Amino acid sequence: MKKNYIMAPGPTPVPEDVLLDIAKPIIHHRTSQYQEIFKKASEGLKYLFNTKNDIFTFASSGTGAMEAAVINILSSGDKAIVVRGGKFGERFSDICKAYGIEAINIDVEWGKPVDPGLIKKRLADNKDLKAVFATLCETSTGTKNDIQGIANIVSATNAVLIVDAVSGLCADDLRTDEWKVDVVCCGSQKGMMLPPGLAFLSINKKAMEKVAKSNLPKYYFDLKAYKKSLDKNDVPWTPAVGLVRGLCKSIDMIREEGMENVLARHARLANATKEAAKALGLELFSASPSNAVTAVKVPSGVDGQNLVKTMRNKYGVTIAGGQAHLKGKIFRIAHLGYMVEFDTLTAISALEITLKELGHKFTLGSGVGAALKVFTA
Ligand SMILES: *Cc1c(COP(=O)(O)O)cnc(C)c1O
Repeated sequence: MKKNYIMAPGPTPVPEDVLLDIAKPIIHHRTSQYQEIFKKASEGLKYLFNTKNDIFTFASSGTGAMEAAVINILSSGDKAIVVRGGKFGERFSDICKAYGIEAINIDVEWGKPVDPGLIKKRLADNKDLKAVFATLCETSTGTKNDIQGIANIVSATNAVLIVDAVSGLCADDLRTDEWKVDVVCCGSQKGMMLPPGLAFLSINKKAMEKVAKSNLPKYYFDLKAYKKSLDKNDVPWTPAVGLVRGLCKSIDMIREEGMENVLARHARLANATKEAAKALGLELFSASPSNAVTAVKVPSGVDGQNLVKTMRNKYGVTIAGGQAHLKGKIFRIAHLGYMVEFDTLTAISALEITLKELGHKFTLGSGVGAALKVFTA
């Protein structure tokens, strides 16, 4: 028998209680029962996002929220800065391109965080820049960016800061209002402990003023339609009723644990994973590791794609490999969402067994031992 463990940076495991709520019979959405559920979800999301502003919920994957940010806030001919330090930074740039926005890319070496000073310089040189797109956790490299530092700079200008926190939310600290982050995009299948299928967008007054003026084409993701509905605890189109019900449960669980403890748990699991990798003689990839996912360099002599495949197909443990030019060069172990110490220990055990099989030389058990040391310190 093979038991499956999902240890990739999305989708992540879903708690049994959340699954049970999602499985309940579907109710009609134009009813007071649904409005109650949606109201509870929309209020609860504010706790997760650390904001008092509106949060819109879409039936889409996380990319839907990213696209919604671009098409609702910008207008044709606008210019925007896009921080590109990996796959997801590139996605913002691609969306801008698709809608005729001139993306001024700040290309950052993959695995390094962006220097906020570069953003400051570009904004100073180019007074007509309308937005800055950045990523909290660049999932493709396991790298955390200094969103507070970036927000400090952008909030002093007329540009709005749009942050992709799809994988970072609940793992890396994000104080939306306190740091003056204008827009935050998120998705359900990462730190929020839900299946894929919901996307979220929080937006403040400064960005909402741009929404009123935006002239890019839009229909399904038109925030003006969502705003009109949200004020009545309603949605413009048929919502993902089951997932929204699951969302209420996952928010309850996060509230019960307390966001501070949720973040501390992610930090603990991330530390254990990093210590384990080092004990196995492996090198970490990121210069600024996120607490959502740890990227590790594949040791020489080991086939990185085979490592990920063996862990999944033979041992049932799904981690992620590298993307684009990092294919086969790194692997990524998530500690994101519904995960505790024993999930991380499972991932490290499977990694050790696989590395042994693929010929990497190390002392068996040293990774697990290093993780246990972190957990018992
Ligand atoms: C997962 C992820 C997304 C969204 O991807 P979808 O496949 O559309 O859900 C966006 N940004 C980051 C950083 C992510 O990790």
